[in-house]
Amino acid sequence: MQKKCGYVSIVGKPNVGKSTLINKIAEEKVSIVTHKAQTTRQNVRFVKNTKNSQIIFTDTPGVEASVKSTLCKHLNKNSQISTFDADLIVFITTVSSWNTNDEVVLNNIKRAKIPAILVINKTDRLKNQNEILPIINNLKEKHDFVDILAISALKESSMNSFLNVIEKHLPEQEPLFTTDSQTEPDDSFVISERIRESLLKNLHQEIPYESTVQVEKIEDLDHIKKIHVVIWVNTEGQKRIVIGKGGEVLKNIGKSSRIDLEKYFSRKIHLALWVKIKSSWWENQNFIDKTKI
Ligand code: GDP
Ligand code: MG
Repeated sequence: MQKKCGYVSIVGKPNVGKSTLINKIAEEKVSIVTHKAQTTRQNVRFVKNTKNSQIIFTDTPGVEASVKSTLCKHLNKNSQISTFDADLIVFITTVSSWNTNDEVVLNNIKRAKIPAILVINKTDRLKNQNEILPIINNLKEKHDFVDILAISALKESSMNSFLNVIEKHLPEQEPLFTTDSQTEPDDSFVISERIRESLLKNLHQEIPYESTVQVEKIEDLDHIKKIHVVIWVNTEGQKRIVIGKGGEVLKNIGKSSRIDLEKYFSRKIHLALWVKIKSSWWENQNFIDKTKI
């Protein structure tokens, strides 16, 4: 039934709405991949099955980091390119924020020679919807995008039209993942997503993009749910920043994640957070396979 299938990376500089979009797609039913038997190709976040397709959304750690580190002049050219291993790229920008950081991402896309859809987000910010036309006309000159879409990830009630556009540009092939049925996100996925969000909120540097969250153990006790989590970072310096003076930063990360998770699970949560170092973990497929949900 599903005739199209492929890997899709959502990229863009910080703050354009990638997480908002991903959360919106994941809120609707998704299949979480717990065992990547069929491929070691990518860092799969979740798989979305639609009537006609299977869309494999992947993480591109290092893409955002490369944007950030360009700013810091520590650009690692090799790692930028290796992270672009997808059938299709969804490149997100907004109606009003195009700048050199978008150019950095776009140059990576051009170099990777992978078809890219341009998504112009935050259309709700326009006073008049006609204003979108000149914006599209301007941005379409920048690259030979396979499609251009204007959306509001925040206000859109359904992501169906977005998914339909993606579907159009996927290769024709049988599903790569055997996902019996659509399932609710599993607990580990929800937990790691919430903690990632909290990292983004609490850290202003490139750290969130160079970290990954591993849920090690969940204990369902009578009165409380105990969750053991490791936050993996790239460097010793990052570890120090994540922990903060006297553990202050980590405490805040833990607190806001716990509040979020208590709401989600409607239960009392005990969250044990550890920060550990694994340098360039995103280039280590073994590590990704072992730690990823
Ligand atoms: P990311 O850094 O690319 O993952 O961006 P986020 O998803 O974290 O979004 C950054 C900010 O933009 C957040 O405050 C979002 O609420 C906001 N945002 C995301 N999408 C939209 C949108 O369609 N319209 C408006 N007005 N704000 C948005
Ligand atoms: Mg984000």
